Amino acid sequence: MKKLLLLVLISFTILNSTTLFSQQVRVSIKIILDSSGNRPAQILTNEKFDSAFLWINDRLHEYNRGIEFVPFEIVEIGGPSNPTISANYNGAGVVIDTGGSLITSLEADAEANPSAYQWRSNMINVYYSRTALSNGICSFPSNSNHNEGIIIDHRRADEPEVLLHEIGHFFDLKHTAIQSQACGTLEFDDSSWDQDAIAQANFGLNYNQLTAQQQFQVDITFNNVMSQIRGLGESRVVLTECQLDRWHQTLLNWTTRKDVCSAVVWYVDDNDPDPCAILPAGSPCGCNGKPDIPYENGFCAFDALDGVTKDVIVFKPGAYEADEASSGPIVLDKPMLLTATRQGSAVITP
Ligand SMILES: [Zn+2]
Repeated sequence: MKKLLLLVLISFTILNSTTLFSQQVRVSIKIILDSSGNRPAQILTNEKFDSAFLWINDRLHEYNRGIEFVPFEIVEIGGPSNPTISANYNGAGVVIDTGGSLITSLEADAEANPSAYQWRSNMINVYYSRTALSNGICSFPSNSNHNEGIIIDHRRADEPEVLLHEIGHFFDLKHTAIQSQACGTLEFDDSSWDQDAIAQANFGLNYNQLTAQQQFQVDITFNNVMSQIRGLGESRVVLTECQLDRWHQTLLNWTTRKDVCSAVVWYVDDNDPDPCAILPAGSPCGCNGKPDIPYENGFCAFDALDGVTKDVIVFKPGAYEADEASSGPIVLDKPMLLTATRQGSAVITP
C-alpha cells in the first residue's frame, strides 16, 4: 500500500472560512404519541425537524469547529401498543418542570426499557411531546440522576433555536442569566431584559451610550443561544468562542457526551497561558489537547490522531511551525480535518 506522506513544505494560512464537517453528533428524535396513536398537533409530519437540522448546521458552519448534527432517526413511541408511555409523558397534565423530575423519570423509564422508548446510548435522545407548558429541558452531564435526555414541547418544534439551546445544555452550557456560567466574556441578562436593561446592569448606561465594543458584548448576550429572552427582537444564534470551548471541553470530559460523537476535537493554541511549558523535557506532547490544556504545536495534535477516525484539529489564532525543533516535522498521513476558530487566522510556517 502506498503511504501518503506529505511534508508541509510551504508556508500556508488556515483560513477560518473553510469548513468541512467531520465531527458528527448523532441525534435521535422521538415523538411521543397519545394513547390513540396520534402525534402532537404541531408535529404531524417530520418537515420541521428537517428544517431544524438545516438551520442548526448552518449556525455550526458559522462557528467553524468542524461539527455537524445528524438526525439519525425520527421515530414514534407510545400509542396503543405502549399506552403507559403516552399516559406518563403525553398530555395537558404533563409538566416539564425546571427541577428536572420529569426528565429524570423519563430517562429512568427509557433506560429500563430501551426498546419501548427507542433509547440510544450513542445518540442524543430528544423526546417531543404534548405537555402542559411550551418549554423544554435537558440534563446536564454532571447530574447523576438524569444525564442524557432532552424533552421539548411540540409547540417549540417551529423554533430550531430551542433544540440547539437544549443541546447546549447537553454540552454543559448554562443560561446567560447565570453569572457563574464560566464564560467570562459574556455579560449576564435576565429573561425579561431588553438591550437597554442588559446595558444598564452590566455597564450602568443605556445601550446607545455604550462603546461599539460594549454594544457587541450586549449583543452576544441578547442574541445568545443560551439566553432565555424571548419576543424582544432578539435572534438567538450566537455561541461565543468561550461557550464553544466549554462545549468541547465537556465532550472530552464526559463519556456520556463523547459517545454521541463520531470523532474527537483536538485543540492547538500557542497563545494559551501554558501549563505544558513546565512539563519535564522530553514530554513535549504532555498537554491533553482539550480547550483548557491545548497542545502548543501542531505536531502533538497530529501525533494524537488514531489513524482511523477522522478527528478534527482546531487551531486557535497564532503562529505555528511545521517543523517543531523538539518534536519533528508534521506528517499529514492520517485522516483528519484541519480548521481554525473564527477568531482569526492560524499561520503555519516551515
Ligand atoms: Zn435552558
